Amino acid sequence: MYDINKIRQDFPILGREVYGKPLVYLDNGATTQKPLCVLDAMRDEYLNVNANVHRGVHYLSQQATDLHEAAREKVRAFINAKSTNEVIFTRGTTEALNLVVSSFADEFMGEGDEVIVSTMEHHSNIVPWQLQAAKKGICLKVIPMNDKGEILMDEYRKLFSERTRIVSVAHVSNVLGTINPVKEMISIAHEHGVPFMLDGAQSVPHFKVDVQDLDCDFMAFSGHKMYGPTGVGVLYGKEDWLDRMPPYQGGGEMIESVSFEKTVFEKLPFKFEAGTPDYVATHGLATAIDYLQGIGMDEIQRHETDLTEYAMKRMREIEGMRFFGEADHKDAVVSFLVGDIHHLDMGTLLDRLGIAVRTGHHCAEPLMIRLGIQGTVRASFGLYNTREEVDTLVEGIKRVSRMF
Ligand code: PLP
Repeated sequence: MYDINKIRQDFPILGREVYGKPLVYLDNGATTQKPLCVLDAMRDEYLNVNANVHRGVHYLSQQATDLHEAAREKVRAFINAKSTNEVIFTRGTTEALNLVVSSFADEFMGEGDEVIVSTMEHHSNIVPWQLQAAKKGICLKVIPMNDKGEILMDEYRKLFSERTRIVSVAHVSNVLGTINPVKEMISIAHEHGVPFMLDGAQSVPHFKVDVQDLDCDFMAFSGHKMYGPTGVGVLYGKEDWLDRMPPYQGGGEMIESVSFEKTVFEKLPFKFEAGTPDYVATHGLATAIDYLQGIGMDEIQRHETDLTEYAMKRMREIEGMRFFGEADHKDAVVSFLVGDIHHLDMGTLLDRLGIAVRTGHHCAEPLMIRLGIQGTVRASFGLYNTREEVDTLVEGIKRVSRMF
């Protein structure tokens, strides 16, 4: 039984008003709200435990270290990684992707080597590769998609060459909501002896993701999109790859010994964690995972799929409605335009009705070019959204449409 009223009480912010209207928060793809248990856990750590981790012999430092490492184990179990050595804490998806791009390219890529990405990537899975292209002369190859927003698998197969070194693709598109067939894509990459990096920013918060079942080599995701705090994210990487990759940043925490002649790096996972980690945020993230598992990932997925289908069904009633992203396998994102109403006008006027949506290119400008538009309005759902909120959105869009 999905007790939506009880769930909503865990998020006091959902009870506030904006412009005198009840808040309808439909920008969960950008960031999610935080339940009280996450805020309480972090407050409690700052109030009662706070000390730097891995450094002190004193009681508080050991307690903080225990919480931090317990968070790593929590993440490991959540994504079913083999070992905590495969769980690297980062600031978020973007930093995790940059870490792999930089370190992998340093070790395994040279001029003329190729990375395969898709048309629907977020800028954080495009720009880091372009930085390497400028530095080392590597090439990006792009998997095309059909008009529903689905990857063309035959074209994907054709992109592999003897210069392909890695594939890096979003699990779920933050604009189209498409759930890409990544298990099949990963197995195709492996047939070519090529590793696969998954951008899990929009999948891990919404449904169960098992890295061993998918057999991905790397995966990145952000705490703040899964009801955890900002400033913490995760890079999952198979130990075999991470072992062979050089550190991304140098500093404290990531060394075993340092002299002016030579530095010996720490073992995994610390080799990739230079400097004081946000150990309070990792505890917050672990608490968010407990929260998600308390509700159940399958229940969350069922609830959000229902909301998405209901939203698209109701929005079809609206004259001039155009959807972007109608894949057969789709997650909790609905991108749209109505007639020739500019996305920014629609978003601004919906905001006045208390409805928070995102407008613009959603950090996916190459996708906008493919779609031949400048931007969309995006409603993205979370575990606390309701059918009534979808109704409010639909009435809001109708009202704005009448004004034009
Ligand atoms: N990848 C995807 C698919 C995203 O949706 C986002 C954020 O919107 C990111 C990467 C970047 O995440 P962050 O800003 O948390 O690093």
